[in-house]
Amino acid sequence: MRDKTSFSAPRLGIIWFVPTTGKGYRFTSLANDCERVSVIGGFKTVDEGHVDTWSKVVAADRRLSRYDYEYFPRGRVNWRQEDNAFLLLADPRIFDLKLHNVVAQRWHLERNRAFAHRHTLRNKHASITFRQRGTCMSDGLHICIHRGTNQIGGSCVEMQYAGKRIVVVLGLPLDAELEATELPDIPSVHNNDGSLMGLLLSHGHRDHWGLLPKLPSTINVCLGRKTLSIMAAAAPFIPGGYAPVNSVTYEDGKPFELGPFTITPRLMDHSGFDAYGFLIEAGGKRVYYSGDIRGHGRKAALFERFVKSPPARSMFC
Ligand SMILES: [Zn+2]
Repeated sequence: MRDKTSFSAPRLGIIWFVPTTGKGYRFTSLANDCERVSVIGGFKTVDEGHVDTWSKVVAADRRLSRYDYEYFPRGRVNWRQEDNAFLLLADPRIFDLKLHNVVAQRWHLERNRAFAHRHTLRNKHASITFRQRGTCMSDGLHICIHRGTNQIGGSCVEMQYAGKRIVVVLGLPLDAELEATELPDIPSVHNNDGSLMGLLLSHGHRDHWGLLPKLPSTINVCLGRKTLSIMAAAAPFIPGGYAPVNSVTYEDGKPFELGPFTITPRLMDHSGFDAYGFLIEAGGKRVYYSGDIRGHGRKAALFERFVKSPPARSMFC
């Protein structure tokens, strides 16, 4: 599996490509997650238009103030219910310069490139269609692994369902400095849109919580009761010590809810005390996040318990 998997939610909206001082183009856009936009007449589209949005683009970069909104190559991505397809309608220059690939990549439309095809329209605009295998209606559980698939430590998994999100651990890679490491690109971490229901912390090792001091302190951090006690007691005595301001403690085997997600923690055997895996359920899908585990430690019986009764019909990550 690669970081930033193709499970990321697809987006739609309006775009411009503004030439940079080199020979490249800057991707300028206004977008929304597809599943957060309502279906009207069999389509989803953002309300905003190029004409009214251009003033905001100019406000962010005054050098563009002498140009009209039509001056630079522009386009729009809509979603069509009939065949579950994303349509990029755009200035032909965008296709000639292969910039449609940038849109497909940035907005996670590239899952089914084989289905992409281009039409030239009568008004000299062109369109390209990206047909999806999944669905863009609000019944999909999306998983984005931001980091941790090809390294030890630093893992971070975002899950999104019905417009709400949870984040499972937010670690600092073992070889990274806190100051030099940025938070993953999770919408409600960078803007307070209210979609982030909470963060699940599996245990108290820094490669699972190391970026938490950078997270807005208003966000709930869910963790084991003993893990919270240890982190709070140790924080004043260790460099970069941390304990969450807003905490919710969970218990082994007791399900709890975060928005549309139901989470059942399972105590596991690990060198970190009070370590858990999570069964996460939403929209009829079940995902098991193992956390760090071992089968040869002081609590090896927990590993045996897990092997004897693994969560049924679940995807593991
Ligand atoms: Zn650990």
